[in-house]
Amino acid sequence: MGEIVADYGGTMKSGRVSSVIVERLQSGHDILEGLNELVRRRHVTAADLSAIGAVSNAVVGYFIGQGRYSPITLDGPLEIVSCMGNVSLKENQPFVHAHISLSNAEGSVYGGHLLPGCTVGATFEATLHVHEEKLTRTLDPNTGLFLLDI
Ligand code: ZN
Repeated sequence: MGEIVADYGGTMKSGRVSSVIVERLQSGHDILEGLNELVRRRHVTAADLSAIGAVSNAVVGYFIGQGRYSPITLDGPLEIVSCMGNVSLKENQPFVHAHISLSNAEGSVYGGHLLPGCTVGATFEATLHVHEEKLTRTLDPNTGLFLLDI
């Protein structure tokens, strides 16, 4: 458990960025699968993630409690306005938690929790700021989610 830093109950962990990784996922590949493969191959144990690009189709999740997400299917092609998240260790495996915002031809934006089924369109350009110290997650019985141990 991290140090309590504020009256609102915020907890924190601080440290340094050790390296930066920029990687492009190729058209036709599943984004979440590609990101998880990337962090396992590079042995990333903590990082913050940001990405832009496009998808040919997407599935995002809306949290409905007890560790479950209601899936929302979005037909593409769609622009990735923003994809951001983090990398930590979940059950000793590098794990990506990310959210994604996607815009259509009218400029309307939809988004949610990044689920399997988001397929890279023209490109997917990801930047990872890798942390020196690892981050871990533990199952929280109240939400059914693996939350950061800070
Ligand atoms: Zn999420």
